[in-house]
Amino acid sequence: MDAVELTQKLVRIPGVSGQEGAVADAVEQTMRDLGYREVTRDSFGTVLGQVGPEDASTHLLFDGHMDVVPVVGEWSVDPFGGEIRDGRLWGRGSTDMKGGLAAAICGVAAAAREGTLKHQVAVSATVLEETIEGVALGSVMDRIDPQAVVICEPTSLELKTAQKGRLEMLLTIHGKPSHAAYPERGVNAIDFAARALRALDAMKPVTSEELGKGILVATDIISDPHPSISMLPNSVTIRFDRRTLVGETQEDILSAMRDALTADNISNYDLKVTDSEVSAYTEKAFEPIRWMPAWSLDRDHALVAKAIDAIREMGDEPRLGVFGFCTNGSESAGVRKVPTIGFGPGAESDAHIIDESVDIGEVAKAAEFYRNLVTGMAGA
Ligand SMILES: [Zn+2]
Repeated sequence: MDAVELTQKLVRIPGVSGQEGAVADAVEQTMRDLGYREVTRDSFGTVLGQVGPEDASTHLLFDGHMDVVPVVGEWSVDPFGGEIRDGRLWGRGSTDMKGGLAAAICGVAAAAREGTLKHQVAVSATVLEETIEGVALGSVMDRIDPQAVVICEPTSLELKTAQKGRLEMLLTIHGKPSHAAYPERGVNAIDFAARALRALDAMKPVTSEELGKGILVATDIISDPHPSISMLPNSVTIRFDRRTLVGETQEDILSAMRDALTADNISNYDLKVTDSEVSAYTEKAFEPIRWMPAWSLDRDHALVAKAIDAIREMGDEPRLGVFGFCTNGSESAGVRKVPTIGFGPGAESDAHIIDESVDIGEVAKAAEFYRNLVTGMAGA
């Protein structure tokens, strides 16, 4: 089975975050069929395939998540059809990121078949990345301690050496309920929420030359009670997503936001990092803190040099860049400081859209790159 065929097979199996079980079954069977030495699953339901000598250290871990975002809107193709047309494979998860996952599974198997591996190489098919980046990969890294990690998310075959992080927060503004006919008797939390949004929007964003702006955006707003009819609500909660830069801490971000609110005389609030419960398809439940740090790998690092060699081996000129979105690399590089790069088929702009698709030529190329990288870093 080649990487395009495997992408098609995986796209045809739905599996939003927390419901990846059937995808995991297919991944596990495929890894066994392709000759992986060991294939296991952890408590989160992540599938880990390993090749190379059992007693050797693990030089490389390729990571791809199995979960996809929900199908929404009007599609012109069957989102789980995996149709191949005009050089592209169509369906939910084709770009994000069953193409990259399939390419890693096939590319690593191809390198192992050459029979020259001196070190172990692993592929993790992780869960829940779309809900909480990094947690599932952390569980894998607790077990195998790789020397380097490749995030196989869509990069249009560009080599990514850095990534913004992400902090998710809830701002709850407390009001004083009253009858809507007598609003002067209460305190309207909605008015304060509007002021808070303006104050936070006016903050000067932190910036870095490499990663750009630390973006703060509101993604959700709800009153308590909801609906609040004919009365001022007790409180309003706004969810914020902050894209973070290298070196920023949770406390840096929270205190800057508190300062902006204080400067606008807003004090009737709580601001905290979210830690709501997440459940895996294995029924394991946990409450992760939504803090995924940014990271950057020095472009002089040996891993970057090896990746450039692997790209040139395919006859291509390397293109270097940084991720615009957050990935499991926040765990490997941001938290654990393990050298990490990103490289995968498909464009970031094709992720999470109606009529998602991936260039099948890029899927095949990515598999070739992964094979070359394995041979170059773990081969004889
Ligand atoms: Zn993804």
